[in-house]
Amino acid sequence: MASELIYRGGHDAHPPESGSGYTPKPEKHLLWLWRPLRYLLREQRLVFVLVGMALASLLFALAPSSSSSNSYSYSSAVASELALRSAMDRQQQQHHHRAAFEAATRGFVGGKVPLGIKRKGLRIVVTGGAGFVGSHLVDRLIARGDSVIVVDNFFTGRKENVMHHFGNPNFELIRHDVVEPLLLEVDQIYHLACPASPVHYKFNPVKTIISFFLSNFPFFSLHKTNVVGTLNMLGLAKRVGARFLLTSTSEVYGDPLQHPQVETYWGNVNPIGVRSCYDEGKRTAETLTMDYHRGAQVEVRIARIFNTYGPRMCIDDGRVVSNFVAQALRKEPMTVYGDGKQTRSFQYVSDLVEGLMRLMEGEHIGPFNLGNPGEFTMLELAKVVQETIDPNAKIEFRPNTEDDPHKRKPDISRAKELLGWEPKIPLRQGLPLMVSDFRKRIFGDHSDAKPSTTSTATGTGSS
Ligand code: NAD
Repeated sequence: MASELIYRGGHDAHPPESGSGYTPKPEKHLLWLWRPLRYLLREQRLVFVLVGMALASLLFALAPSSSSSNSYSYSSAVASELALRSAMDRQQQQHHHRAAFEAATRGFVGGKVPLGIKRKGLRIVVTGGAGFVGSHLVDRLIARGDSVIVVDNFFTGRKENVMHHFGNPNFELIRHDVVEPLLLEVDQIYHLACPASPVHYKFNPVKTIISFFLSNFPFFSLHKTNVVGTLNMLGLAKRVGARFLLTSTSEVYGDPLQHPQVETYWGNVNPIGVRSCYDEGKRTAETLTMDYHRGAQVEVRIARIFNTYGPRMCIDDGRVVSNFVAQALRKEPMTVYGDGKQTRSFQYVSDLVEGLMRLMEGEHIGPFNLGNPGEFTMLELAKVVQETIDPNAKIEFRPNTEDDPHKRKPDISRAKELLGWEPKIPLRQGLPLMVSDFRKRIFGDHSDAKPSTTSTATGTGSS
């Protein structure tokens, strides 16, 4: 029967008799181990495995230890790395920005920007940005691709100076008095807000110098621009980690006993005169700026600006260049105060703006004199105005104003050496540009203007 031919291997089964022709294979209990071992030993695979493991251990041993740290140190490392990275991002942004700026100032403005290194625009506040210097600075910053916020109370500034940027998403205008605090997220602050001409700063001298309130002595409550305005902007710079640039003035040298003036000269200022609100206000603003730098590590820059002229200057603000130009255009005599032998140096506004931007982007705090070392007496200036506008323009002498400095000429060696800056536009080249702007503003579009009989130009010195 078929069933008897099958060996089932049961323990009660009888083994087949020898000689029957059937030999069962011996049982291999460790077959599961034997097979992989045999595989490993074949063709020196084991050697390769061991060498691989040795190499891996070596790599782990040499790797940075952070990978072996525990979860606490990992999370704190991540946190500190994030903080570091955000600080580095900021620095990198500034660095790219500086690199791009340097490239631009090296003459690459019109060239192709290499792919991949297009600089990221900064957010910049310009206080007093609707004024003469401020509006030219805003033009340059916007052209460079930055986002600019102008903060101005329009005391001497005009919307017309910046209205060509209205509608540009990179431009904002805030009507605000800097003696009141303001919170904005920005990378840089150019602080220009301040009445800059004698007519205007003498108009409200208390406001010009400092805003100070003692709650115990309310009758001492004063509202002023230079000190509190500067304090507010320094406070903002500290809060948001912005770089702060103060536009100080050559007036900090007062009536100088040293000529030309170097930045290390401490000046000769009358602390109780009619100009003191401006001179001492700016000196205090410089002090505050350095105190914020030393005490709160705010990144600061200080520019000491010498007489600057150009389009968009206030027409009747009593500064000598605008006075002479407006008077000559209106066929009025140019008013020279004193004997006209006092000297000033005149810088064209684009040169100043270049200097301010180099200072802001550079690594040096200053103070830096920014001015044109070409020195002119008031009579020489009147002569240049005659040559430019009207050879028959008359000169009228008046008694000099109080504390009018006798000499003023910047030593710009420091700016030359550390900022690579010096003015490029001489007076005879810059003056015609200002004259054509004044002509348009005084007479509309008619260049053959008639003399005005209602001039309000009131010179107050040679500033
Ligand atoms: P500007 O009068 O044309 O501009 C000053 C701007 O500040 C104006 O737009 C004015 O409205 C604004 N302003 C004044 N007080 C303000 C306040 N409390 N809050 C907000 N805005 C206020 O004068 P500028 O010639 O353009 O001067 C700009 C800066 O440069 C000033 O700080 C000035 O002291 C300094 N500076 C200029 C010269 C120069 O020859 N132009 C020389 C030395 C220093």
